[in-house]
Amino acid sequence: MAGYDVAIVGAGIVGCALARRFAIDGARVVLLEKAHDVLDGASKGNSAILHTGFDAPANSLELDCIKAGYAEYVEIHRRMNLPLDRCGALVLAWNDEQVAALPGLMAQARENGVEDIQPMDRASLLRAEPQLAHRVRAGFRVPREALIDPWSAAHAYLYQAVQHGAELRCRAALTAADRLGERWRLDTTAGAVEAGLVINAAGLWGDHVERILTGESWFQIRPRKGQFVVYDKPAAALARHILLPVPSKITKGVVVCRTVFGNLIVGPTAEEQDSREVASLDSQTMRDLQKTGETILPALAGHEVTAAYAGLRPATEEKGYRIRADLSRGLVTVGGIRSTGLSAALGIARHVADLVGLRAGEAQHWPHMPMLAQEAQRDFLQPGNGGIACHCELVTRREIEAAMSAPAPANSLAGLKRRTRVTMGRCQGFGCTAELSRMTEGRFTQPMTRGDPDAD
Ligand SMILES: Cc1cc2nc3c(=O)[nH]c(=O)nc-3n(C[C@H](O)[C@H](O)[C@H](O)COP(=O)(O)OP(=O)(O)OC[C@H]3O[C@@H](n4cnc5c(N)ncnc54)[C@H](O)[C@@H]3O)c2cc1C
Repeated sequence: MAGYDVAIVGAGIVGCALARRFAIDGARVVLLEKAHDVLDGASKGNSAILHTGFDAPANSLELDCIKAGYAEYVEIHRRMNLPLDRCGALVLAWNDEQVAALPGLMAQARENGVEDIQPMDRASLLRAEPQLAHRVRAGFRVPREALIDPWSAAHAYLYQAVQHGAELRCRAALTAADRLGERWRLDTTAGAVEAGLVINAAGLWGDHVERILTGESWFQIRPRKGQFVVYDKPAAALARHILLPVPSKITKGVVVCRTVFGNLIVGPTAEEQDSREVASLDSQTMRDLQKTGETILPALAGHEVTAAYAGLRPATEEKGYRIRADLSRGLVTVGGIRSTGLSAALGIARHVADLVGLRAGEAQHWPHMPMLAQEAQRDFLQPGNGGIACHCELVTRREIEAAMSAPAPANSLAGLKRRTRVTMGRCQGFGCTAELSRMTEGRFTQPMTRGDPDAD
């Protein structure tokens, strides 16, 4: 049975960041993931905003992790060739009640250390965002809110972890656990492993995994669905900033923003549900989101919708992150990373390494990620790329080959999509699926011809 210092359960953005941190710091790491490929839970469908933490709960662990995560992403993104669109956000008030909430929100932002916010009146908002509906009342700008690629970030953390010796096991669902003296024996659907420390980073299944490990759970996952509408690329020209509403106690509300891939999204909703797996879309919600988008940017009315998606947040009965270390039992729980995990992942990983008392190591290897942002010098412009396989998203055969031979290669169509963007454009795979099936034959653990259980 293979022995490790640390076994991390769950390869979402948080598990990948933890694997990176622990591997760089010198631990022998195994990352266990139940799906065919990584990022199969909450991390597959979010808004892709790198938050500053301006509206996070004051003096919270969440705020600390967001700020540390943001700072580390900014520090490392160039070395890993990861996009960072520092477009800034506008928080917009549309009625008296929202206007009245602005001073409190700005005070909170300053208390949270985000001091570069700028109050804006109606005229300056319309100058900054000429397509904004004229009935906007007031707002403020958060200059450092940014957009990133939610998948290449996580893959970069994972690849760097693997380059430092971490092992990824997919199709390895944790099914049983025993604490034997100072060590854990973990049974998974891909065999048993032994580790001194277990980190529960199972996201939407965090409470379930906690019960496998300890027989009980001190928190309960309450999945909260967020649906999005994705507009075709010409719509992205309508918004320069991330357009945020005044948040409520429950949700940050419906956002209108570009993606680094050149689309424009409107969403997410915040819908409590029981299922942890099914993130279904419904047509009335899609229409409502389109209407909301059009009340913010009236010119959206003439634009085509490319796609829709939904993600599930691993919310719990409390708002805060549910992070706890019980070192006498060799267990760290990283649960309830509800709605800011993309921004906070690197900060969470540093925090957990500190809890465990790991000495910070120096990275020896840096993966160079394929740059998929619309504005970047994409591979289809470079010689020797093998030609374009997906014409909507301009994905080259060389990019597909790179994803299939990466430090953690794609194992399924969903994994390949998230690494390259194949099938995610206007035709949604109509033009390239047959060729992809040929190119990946015999190389996925879930062949395309048998359907894709990890599909979005
Ligand atoms: C609609 C929406 C919008 C969001 N917008 C943003 C945003 O703009 N910015 C931001 O910072 N954050 C955002 N988030 C939040 C962010 O996406 C989450 O906080 C983050 O993805 C949580 O990651 P995780 O790794 O904790 O969980 P997950 O991604 O759920 O990962 C857990 C992994 O554990 C695996 N697993 C579960 N059980 C087992 C088992 N028994 N054995 C092995 N593996 C197991 C799962 O398959 C999964 O891959 C948003 C989330 C949603 C849903």
